[in-house]
Amino acid sequence: MKLISLFTLSFLLVSLSLFSQESKYPKQAPMKPEMSEYWTPQPKVVTPAQTPETILVAPSDAIVLFDGSDLSMWENSEGKPAEWTIGDGFFTVKKGKGIIKTKQLFNDFQLHIEWRIPEGIEGKSQGRGNSGVFLQGHYEIQILDCYQNETYVNGQTGSVYKQTPPLVNAMQKPGVWNTYDIIYNAPTFTKDGTYRTPPTVTVLQNGVLLQNHTTILGTTEYIGFPKVKEHGAGPIILQDHGDAVSFRNIWIREL
Ligand code: MG
Repeated sequence: MKLISLFTLSFLLVSLSLFSQESKYPKQAPMKPEMSEYWTPQPKVVTPAQTPETILVAPSDAIVLFDGSDLSMWENSEGKPAEWTIGDGFFTVKKGKGIIKTKQLFNDFQLHIEWRIPEGIEGKSQGRGNSGVFLQGHYEIQILDCYQNETYVNGQTGSVYKQTPPLVNAMQKPGVWNTYDIIYNAPTFTKDGTYRTPPTVTVLQNGVLLQNHTTILGTTEYIGFPKVKEHGAGPIILQDHGDAVSFRNIWIREL
């Protein structure tokens, strides 16, 4: 009985101290998407060289993630077969089918991926040719039609989404293939789950540098600040944002 009373008393004291702590500080204001978006300065436009007709064939030590035939290396978010549309040597986001991700998980890597905004696309800002490549399933490198389409700069093509804008805008026009070459170093974590070393990324679009060994601050949230989440090896995820963005010639080299 005495034990129970002591327990009840200490529980009450802890609750009271928590309550007084709660009442001591104001609540954090709820974040809205636009609070983490900024529009200037807009990155300079650089006209990239024409995308070669012959695709850059995977080097001998690469893992081919898509060779033009099928999505056997990919699955949907539930681990079921990926249901995006296969075309002639490419595949396309099938609206409403959700993300697709690689079955294989990766740590440090060099990734080559080609993507195309459909010709005649309509819409503006983030609502035009939106997709994205998520590194280790957590960090989005934005894909968007930024050809004569302004948006917040930390949400442009090649941005670390809602964090770091690209150095320049090197878009091909809709209907023309773009290339991404992404070099990624995975984070390492301390025992308490904080970064020992944060993830870093280098991105080239059409041979033009967009991210130069950029430190990734944390997860790429639509609303709010980046979060540091402890994780191990992760998949490459491609985003279904409702736009018919196509992909081809995807290969990865583990580092
Ligand atoms: Mg996106």
